[in-house]
Amino acid sequence: ETQKVNPDKVEFKLEKDTELRFEVENGANVVLELSAGQAEIFGAELTKNKKYTFSSGFKVAVFTWHGCQINLVGKTEVAYIAKDTPMTMYLNCHTALEQMRKKAEDDFSIRGPRVMIVGPGDVGKSTLCRLLCNYAARLGRAPILIDLDVGQTEISIPGTMGALSIDRPADIEEGYALNAPLIYHFGHKSPSDNLKLYNLLITRIAESVSLRCESSSRANISGAIINTCGWVRGGGYQAIVHAATAFEVDVILVMDQERLHSELSKDMPNFVKVVLLPKSGGVVERSKIVRRDARDARIKEYFYGIRNSLYPHTFGVPYSEVTIYKIGAPALPEAMLPLGVSAQDSRTKLVPIQPSGALRHHILSVSSANSTEEIVDSNVLGFIVITEVDIDRKIFSILSPTPGPLPRHILLVMDDIQFMDFK
Ligand code: ADP
Repeated sequence: ETQKVNPDKVEFKLEKDTELRFEVENGANVVLELSAGQAEIFGAELTKNKKYTFSSGFKVAVFTWHGCQINLVGKTEVAYIAKDTPMTMYLNCHTALEQMRKKAEDDFSIRGPRVMIVGPGDVGKSTLCRLLCNYAARLGRAPILIDLDVGQTEISIPGTMGALSIDRPADIEEGYALNAPLIYHFGHKSPSDNLKLYNLLITRIAESVSLRCESSSRANISGAIINTCGWVRGGGYQAIVHAATAFEVDVILVMDQERLHSELSKDMPNFVKVVLLPKSGGVVERSKIVRRDARDARIKEYFYGIRNSLYPHTFGVPYSEVTIYKIGAPALPEAMLPLGVSAQDSRTKLVPIQPSGALRHHILSVSSANSTEEIVDSNVLGFIVITEVDIDRKIFSILSPTPGPLPRHILLVMDDIQFMDFK
């Protein structure tokens, strides 16, 4: 039997310490195969002769420490081999963290490293987090990944922040295995939309991480890897400092900004190592539209899975069975507030939302809270979309990953994040 040669197949021979960078063309798929040698994608090893499919818009770097051959089938926007990468420096960071884990393993009075990755937008922060998580997981570690990037979080849908225990490398095509992540409702795409709530949730997540480390020595030794958002000035900077304090970080990796590096070196206590790292030349800048599309894709993936592997449910929920809130009233001028109430307090206040047709296409978090008092401090169980509203019968049609009825009755509405379900 003769094997047909695929005319669309392009072969790339990579020398050691180089990487193949490519971007999948809009509307296309690219199938990648490692045919010889060893290679990894963002720290996860490729299996030889296995076919990996990447969908529209995916930006990939295949790195090899020892040389390899890669075949690509499908339309790429760009595809080139880069010899100049910061991978050795990134590996050195991992090695230093691993040494800290070994120390924690030998001495119970020491805990594993907590590292925070900061820098402006599009410098490869999430990618470095993934690399560090994957390298740690490949050594049998189980670090906690904390994602504070509410616009482009990798562990849940946009508008949320939380923590995920990593005990195996991320899947090359599908990303992190989202086993029981601890997720909090923020409700906006940017921390600046409610800085007070953002900082409060950082404190809350830091408390849960501490509890987790107290109960699991493996988590305690493995440490934490904290991803942040690209807002690094003003309130964004204050939030970084607050997170560093709340999580008691040992190391801050600053990507691609000397100014931020020098500010943090000055403002952090001496025991915090602040390290400046270059960004990779492969990191692609994303436009507003690309970011919006990425958020939509992330939400769609939550309900439908990657390549429609999940089957969400649609069912009716009477108005009377749910209580809907938004967190944060508009900050009124102090003069307009009752005595003893500060303008900041209103930002974490619950605002009841009346059921109405205006909620169509809105995403709501299902709070784990059983009572109103617990809401702001409680994590969420999952998300639903209101797809239709029957105003006469007072019933919402909702899209949900699990069949009805809803596990809890308190729902929190996302402020500026919606989803049109075209299925
Ligand atoms: P940030 O978190 O700083 O906003 P990301 O880590 O999300 O940046 O990276 C932005 C984009 O660049 C992502 O789509 C990522 O897949 C891509 N990317 C990162 N590193 C590389 C690289 N070395 N080659 C090609 N693409 C890359």
